[in-house]
Amino acid sequence: MQVEFLGGAGEIGRSAVLIDDSLLLDYGMASESPPQYPVGDVDPDAVVVSHGHLDHVGAVPALLSGTEQPPVHWTPPTRELALTLAEDTLKLHGGSPRCPFTENDVRRIGEVSATHGYREPFEAAGYEVTFYDAGHIPGSAHVLVEDGETRLLYTGDFHTDERRGGDAASGRANGREAPVSGQRLVPATTDRPDADAVICESTYSDVSHEDRGDVEASFVETLRTTVWQGGTVVVPAFAIGRTQEIMLVCAAHDIDCYVDGMGQRVIEQLRHHPAFLRDADAFRGAVSNARFVDGRDGQRRRIADQNAVVVTTSGMLSGGPAMTYVPAIADQPVNTIAMTGYQVEGTPGRDLLETGSAEIDGRVMPVSAQVEAYDFSAHADREGLLSFLDAYRDSRLLINHGDRCESFARELRAEGHDASAPTLGETVTLS
Ligand SMILES: [Zn+2]
Repeated sequence: MQVEFLGGAGEIGRSAVLIDDSLLLDYGMASESPPQYPVGDVDPDAVVVSHGHLDHVGAVPALLSGTEQPPVHWTPPTRELALTLAEDTLKLHGGSPRCPFTENDVRRIGEVSATHGYREPFEAAGYEVTFYDAGHIPGSAHVLVEDGETRLLYTGDFHTDERRGGDAASGRANGREAPVSGQRLVPATTDRPDADAVICESTYSDVSHEDRGDVEASFVETLRTTVWQGGTVVVPAFAIGRTQEIMLVCAAHDIDCYVDGMGQRVIEQLRHHPAFLRDADAFRGAVSNARFVDGRDGQRRRIADQNAVVVTTSGMLSGGPAMTYVPAIADQPVNTIAMTGYQVEGTPGRDLLETGSAEIDGRVMPVSAQVEAYDFSAHADREGLLSFLDAYRDSRLLINHGDRCESFARELRAEGHDASAPTLGETVTLS
């Protein structure tokens, strides 16, 4: 089996792995300016997508412009999230060289889509492929590829249980059960299918996440304190995964919240896939606890003047309704901006955290409001990666999707693993 790394090798963004010039795993884009796409020309016989984030699925419609379109295999939520992302990319870059696909290509998704649940083997380009729950976002999958000789596991992005020897039953808030580990939106990955080789993400290979229960407790305390003191909290959150997670956290702690931006559409989509949620009842409860914002008639300005919590895109303050809320609350120290996700270098969110000011909507803006950051990550941290890979002591490990893949591979070798970090464009032969 030949494995070619077309993107996401030694980097995060534009994930793409090609098996034997035939089966493509993921085809993402990095939303930098200008957007980055996988390298090389690719004409796959079939495509398998691990999950519905831009850096894994964002460029898939570009594969559908030829006369022969490959089937695209994914879980039902991933299919819907992919459509939402494609339409958003068209809106942002459509018709420009920054967008490698057209409206027509996006329309073809419906014709080539084949959806599969977890643990239901299917055939793609002559391989047997099986999805396992990766615990990252709804519908996210580890992808097992078998050709009769070699079993390759592609982890995609995944999240493990981060309980650190604590008492799982001890987390209670307002008389309700609060999980002290893992995400509220999806359960952590537990499947460890046998494999001869593993392509493993390494986003947080040098980070230990703070205990999730502690993160939640201090986040909730900040929301309550700010509102009680007469302030407004703006919670920038990614549309897919994070917006819904924060909405669940608010509901679990009886905190009213507004939800604005593209995350609303994702909520609507996920309501149709309760089987892919950790707790469908909790999700329904959180949807009725939230108030949705359409932004008409100056609604956002009015919300910004209330003692309220508003969860909104974009997660890194690079667009979306946050462009209205942040300037509206920035000059009052009683207000809070509570970041909930990783801030990529060069984004306004990162600048704001590091310097206390940021360029918002083309204008450099000093911010007097409190700025805080909470680690609600949906990725395994160092301990999570190591415990996952402990199940693959006899497998060949190929480390990708990280800023320090080579260092992590070296650390794994020191632990006795057979690990390496392929470079962009490299082909690895598995036997
Ligand atoms: Zn992801």
